[in-house]
Amino acid sequence: MLPSIALVGRPNVGKSTLFNQLTRSRDALVANLSGLTRDRKYGEGRSDDRAFIVIDTGGVSGDEEGIDAAMAEQSLLAIEEADIVLLLVDARDGLNPVDEQLVQYLRQQSRDFHLVVNKIDGRDPDVAVSDFHALGIASMHAIAASHGRGVRQMIESVLETIPRSYEHPEAEGDSEEEGGIEGSGAEQGEDEAEDHGGTRVAIVGRPNVGKSTLVNRILGEERVVVYDQPGTTRDSVYIKFVREGRPYTLIDTAGVRRRKNVREAIEKFSIIKTLSAISDANVVVLLVDGQEGLVDQDLHLLGHCLEAGRALVLAVNKWDGLDPDQKEMIRSELDRRLRFVEFADMHFISALHGSGVGTLFGSIDAAYAAAMQPMGTSRLTRILEEAVADHPPPLVNGRRIKLRYAHAGGRNPPRVVVHGNQTDKVPNSYQRYLEKVFSRRLELTGTPLRIEFRSSD
Ligand code: GDP
Ligand code: GDP
Repeated sequence: MLPSIALVGRPNVGKSTLFNQLTRSRDALVANLSGLTRDRKYGEGRSDDRAFIVIDTGGVSGDEEGIDAAMAEQSLLAIEEADIVLLLVDARDGLNPVDEQLVQYLRQQSRDFHLVVNKIDGRDPDVAVSDFHALGIASMHAIAASHGRGVRQMIESVLETIPRSYEHPEAEGDSEEEGGIEGSGAEQGEDEAEDHGGTRVAIVGRPNVGKSTLVNRILGEERVVVYDQPGTTRDSVYIKFVREGRPYTLIDTAGVRRRKNVREAIEKFSIIKTLSAISDANVVVLLVDGQEGLVDQDLHLLGHCLEAGRALVLAVNKWDGLDPDQKEMIRSELDRRLRFVEFADMHFISALHGSGVGTLFGSIDAAYAAAMQPMGTSRLTRILEEAVADHPPPLVNGRRIKLRYAHAGGRNPPRVVVHGNQTDKVPNSYQRYLEKVFSRRLELTGTPLRIEFRSSD
């Protein structure tokens, strides 16, 4: 499970600014996905080799004041669930009574937390924090979120308070962003998948879409052999099984296996748990409720799947009990609204009756294979050359952007690194064009593809 960090504090202390700083590298990846409503409150960040989830609890935009504004219900939930709480205060304002109330609240909850004194730019850090010593908090950090100053050190030091065992087993293999070279990280990914019990499949979806029913259905199949796993308390449950000779690990965010009695069966839906599951999976099965159609929360989850670059299978559940006209209507509505994830197979299933469930595995296997497939340099370069010949990149300042060769940069999602000059000038539309061409030529069903540019200028 990824460590999660909740940002709390009264309005205007700089929570969103810090959130953006911490999740910046990920933002760029989703910026050009049109038609997608994103949940701005949860994001993934990375510090060196450690990934984490960051939660901006400052989603209150109304005119609430003081403690009410800072402590909206969702903040309380986030504080309860997060591994690390950062209480932000504003160095320019000095110590404010609401800050003190927040400290008191966190102490009442017996929550460990770190004090982050923001907006120290233009002042002496020692002076800036001196006001806040009165709070008696051992862990204090001075930062200027909008300048990125002190942010890295602060995050590194708070992450150190969390045991490394929290980590996603592929955290390291996954960080080719910083110039990883062909193949190396990727090979590792595959070995690990085998060591860790085959394809990791996360079943995610908002409450009541039928996750538990689907997990039970899958595990109840005769063709499935389930290996016992020790139960955990608040994480997703990882269930190893073999189906038709292939090993899988099901990441069950509904926690079916852990339930011992009815009372335990009432699980709180947790965004953090879901994001961790997505991050840890090779393939995500996103369940939506066919009888209710798509809602915002489905799109938010979908946004997170795309952000994480996971292979994806869409499952429209509760397809029983609909008449043919309704089915037709829902189908065309989904086709229209999900056009931006056309790489993913869509299945219409009934977890309750079992129809369509078996066919999910065909798509899961195909998506996994596509996400992990080796991509040779000469093949990628040939595809690039043909794409460029069909449709050359534009001129910039009278000079044509030159794209010379391409090689693999990682798997799950497949990354293609394109070298050339003036690559920082490649327009988004051209990048999307290349993504389409590579996806099509590599026959990548079920997985998104990422293109990164390296300039030799
Ligand atoms: P939130 O309500 O806690 O999410 O606060 P925001 O992130 O929206 O920030 C409130 C204001 O403070 C904005 O105008 C930011 O630009 C500004 N701000 C945030 N961080 C800093 C900083 O480090 N230094 C300065 N000078 N301003 C900052
Ligand atoms: P979860 O919260 O996502 O784990 O959802 P559950 O598996 O607990 O299902 C929520 C409700 O939807 C339950 O009453 C299920 O019986 C019902 N349900 C689940 N799958 C189906 C289905 O395929 N068809 C119908 N009609 N109902 C379903």
